[in-house]
Amino acid sequence: MNLIEALRAALGEGAVLTNPSERAAYEQDWRGLVNNPALAVILPKSTEQVSQAVRLCAAHSVRIVPQGGNTGLVAGAVPIEGADQVILSFSRLRAVREIDVLADTITVEAGMTLAAVQQEAANANRFFPVSLGAEGTAEIGGVISTNAGGLQVLSYGNMRAQVLGLEVVLADGTLWHGLSGLRKDNTGYDLKQVFIGSEGTLGLITAATLRLHPPVASRASALVGIENLEQGLRIFSVMRHAAGPALTLCEFCTHAALALGAAHTQGGRLPFAAPAYLLLEISALEGGRDPQEMLETVLMKELEEGRALDAAIAQSERERLDFLALRENISEGELREGGAVKHDISVSLSRLAELVSAVETLVARDYPGFRPNIFGHVGDGNLHVNIRPPEGQDMAAIAARKAAITTSIETLAVSLQGSFSAEHGIGQLRLPGMVAHKSPTDLSLMRAIKHALDPAGLLNPGKTVPEV
Ligand code: FAD
Repeated sequence: MNLIEALRAALGEGAVLTNPSERAAYEQDWRGLVNNPALAVILPKSTEQVSQAVRLCAAHSVRIVPQGGNTGLVAGAVPIEGADQVILSFSRLRAVREIDVLADTITVEAGMTLAAVQQEAANANRFFPVSLGAEGTAEIGGVISTNAGGLQVLSYGNMRAQVLGLEVVLADGTLWHGLSGLRKDNTGYDLKQVFIGSEGTLGLITAATLRLHPPVASRASALVGIENLEQGLRIFSVMRHAAGPALTLCEFCTHAALALGAAHTQGGRLPFAAPAYLLLEISALEGGRDPQEMLETVLMKELEEGRALDAAIAQSERERLDFLALRENISEGELREGGAVKHDISVSLSRLAELVSAVETLVARDYPGFRPNIFGHVGDGNLHVNIRPPEGQDMAAIAARKAAITTSIETLAVSLQGSFSAEHGIGQLRLPGMVAHKSPTDLSLMRAIKHALDPAGLLNPGKTVPEV
C-alpha cells in the first residue's frame, strides 16, 4: 500500500485531499509569497488519527507540514520547495474538552480558532486575552506554535504566558500527555515550553489547557494625536504609571499607516489629522476604577502640557471597536494595496525612538520614494516596520531590492540589542536572519534540540532552524 492509500484507510476517504484544486488553498501562504505542492492535505479528526498519520508518514519517510489557520506571516505552515511533504491540517480538531471555572482554565483542541476560544471564555463569564487581527481564522495550535503576541501582551503577556499544559504528538507518533492545568509544577524540565513557539518543528500540538482571566467589566479607549514616537513613549509611560496593568493596549501608528487602515475599514475615518497616533485602552474589572475617568485625567494633562496634540475618547462601545478596526485593518489594507517588505522587530523601549528615526533616515537615503509603513505594539517595544514600494510600483518591480532592505532593517534592530523577529517567528522567510544574527552557540543548541526530538527531520522541514 502506498502512503496515500494507507492514509485513506486510516483517516477515511474524504480526509485525504490529493486533487490540486482542493490542495491549492493550503499550499499558498497568507501573503501569497510561497506556493509549493504537497503530496496531499490530510484532515485528521482526533488526536489518535494525528498520531496514526504521523506513524504512516514516518514509515514512508514523508515529511509533515503542520497547518493551523495558515495566517502566519513567515510561510511556516506551507511546504518548502523540492521535498515530499504532506500538509496536516488541524481544522477538524475543534472540540472544547473542558472548562473549569474554579481553576480558571479551558482545555481545547488545536484546531479551534482563537476567536472561538475567546467566545467560549466569555460564555463562561471569563476572559481570554490573546487577541490579533487574524483571530477569526488563526487556530490555537498555530497561535501556540508561533507564541503569538498581539494587542494585549502589555498587560497579559503573550501566548506562552497563557499555556498551562499541552498534548503533543511527537515525531515518531508517540503521544505526550502534558495536559496539566497546574500553576506550580517544578518536576524537572518544563517540557511544554520546548513546543511553544517551535513552529511545528518539534511536535504536533493536538490540545492545550489555557489560563482564563476575570471578565473585563468596562473598557475605555482613546486615539491620541502625537508629533512623534518620542512624545508617544512619554505619554505611554505616564499612562502606565497611572493605570498599571489596567492599561491593556498601547499601539502606535504613523499617519500613513492609520490612514491605510481607515481606507480599508468600512465607513472608516480618522477623527482628526496628526503626524502619528497612539491607540490606548484601559480595562477595569468589576468594582475597579472607572477607566474613562482614568483616561480623561491623564490625557487632559498631556494635552495641556503639549505632549498630546489632540485626542478622541470613544464615547460608546461601537466607537471603541471602530478605533480598534482602524488599527487592525492596516495589515489587510497593506496587502490589498500591493504589499510591502515586512519586518517585525523589537528593541528596548528606551531605544525605540532611535530605531524609528534610524529607519526613516536609512529609507530616505538608500531607498528614496519607498514608503515606510510603521505601526505596532509600542508598549512591548515591538513595531512592524514595513516598507511599501514607491507610488506606482508594485512588489515585482522592487523584487531585486527586497533582501537588501530586510538586511538593513534587521541589522539596525540587532545593532540596538533588539530582535529581528519579535512575534511572527522564523518560518521560511526569516531563515536568513537566523544565519546572520544568531550566535553559533544559539544555533547549535537549537539543532541539538531538533535532533533530539525529530532525528529524522520529519516535522516541518526547512523552517525555523537553518540546516548546517
Ligand atoms: P499557521 O499559520 O497555520 O501556522 C503557524 C506555524 O505554526 C507554522 O509553522 C505551522 O507549521 C505551525 N503550526 C500550526 N498549527 C500547529 C499545531 N497544531 N502543532 C504544531 N505546529 C503547528 N501574530 C502576532 O503574533 N501578533 C499579531 O498582532 C498578529 N496579527 C496578525 C494580523 C493579521 C491580519 C494576520 C494575517 C496575521 C497576524 N499575525 C499576528 C500572525 C498570525 O496570525 C499568527 O502567527 C498566528 O499565531 C498563526 O496562527 P495560525 O493558526 O494561522 O498558524
